[in-house]
Amino acid sequence: MIQHYQQQLAELKAQNQFRQLPQLIHQGRFIQREGKTMLNLSSNDYLGLANHEGLRQAFFAQYQDHLPAFTSSSSRLLTGSFPIYDELETLMAQAFGRESALLFNSGYHANIGILPALADKKTLIVADKLVHASMIDGIRLAQCEFVRFRHNDYAHLEQILQKNDRTFERMIVVTESVFSMDGDCADLNQLVALKQQYPQVMLYVDEAHAIGVLGENGLGLAEQQGCLEQIDILVGTFGKALASMGAYAVCDQVIRDYLINKMRPLIFSTALPPLNVAWTHFLFQQLPHLKAERTHLVSLSQHLRQAIVDIFNVLMPSESCIVPYILGDNALTVKTAQRLQQQGYYCLPIRPPTVPKGTSRIRFSLTADMSFAEVDQLIACLQDFAE
Ligand code: PMP
Repeated sequence: MIQHYQQQLAELKAQNQFRQLPQLIHQGRFIQREGKTMLNLSSNDYLGLANHEGLRQAFFAQYQDHLPAFTSSSSRLLTGSFPIYDELETLMAQAFGRESALLFNSGYHANIGILPALADKKTLIVADKLVHASMIDGIRLAQCEFVRFRHNDYAHLEQILQKNDRTFERMIVVTESVFSMDGDCADLNQLVALKQQYPQVMLYVDEAHAIGVLGENGLGLAEQQGCLEQIDILVGTFGKALASMGAYAVCDQVIRDYLINKMRPLIFSTALPPLNVAWTHFLFQQLPHLKAERTHLVSLSQHLRQAIVDIFNVLMPSESCIVPYILGDNALTVKTAQRLQQQGYYCLPIRPPTVPKGTSRIRFSLTADMSFAEVDQLIACLQDFAE
């Protein structure tokens, strides 16, 4: 029996696709592995808040000896609901200008829970070809009809909506706002305009990589594009720019009530620790004051994107701080990542099935606590590789 799994693993190794958990020591924005210190270019801590000592101290100073509980000990529907949950949900609903918000244990929980709760046999889910694995898993669990449209191709999406208009009672259009592997963006206003032509269409947008980073107050791409109120279900995570853990959806009250009644990961899993939710609440309040960090990140990202295009003459889909260097070949990507690590840059090769075949890449993820000098050194190193 066990040989079957051994053989599968051997195949993965042969294809350069074998995964292992790395042993890492974290030192602020640096990572130490096997005694080598490297700039962490693979973190989702986009605003650089994860290691912000001042914020941490200010948070703990609020409580002194009376920290919020380290566990909720139960699902929220039983005894795991604490006032800080409601406070954060109220704060978020107000900030987004929406009726309600609901918290979840992670973005993965949100995406595998909300879609199956909302969809039934009379529902068609129409998802962008490049949506994250968590949404794909959510769609599979939903057991409803499912079609994908070509990435950011809204003419294709419209064809699908037109074709299925009469067949389904509901159609849920699913997209990310900033795409996790290419760093490019959806055009949410175009999606809203399309949705408004079809009364049975709902828009589901995952802002995991945009919350905190984009928008005047850091509320994401929907804020930046001015359509916060038109997205039916706006989802995001706290584990990235918000330097915490958990996720949210902002939506109408009816949808919130429905999810509380139908969403299995919410009903059947222990709620997040109140301490964790209090930290998220504290950081969420800081978001409007982090404009300097957002502006710095925009310039830093623009600088690296341009340099990669200039040096390698490769495709650069990104418009954000997720900057892919697309090499194509698996083995070459692995080798280049290893060379970068030797030079002091912790970046990882991303290969199929995480990205489509033939598009293996190094995914540089920039954070606001990096300096121009650090990014210039990385660029100089890439330049050396090209010569
Ligand atoms: N959505 C997207 C677009 C993501 O990239 C990720 C994680 N990388 C998630 C959801 C999952 O979020 P979490 O890590 O909070 O489970």
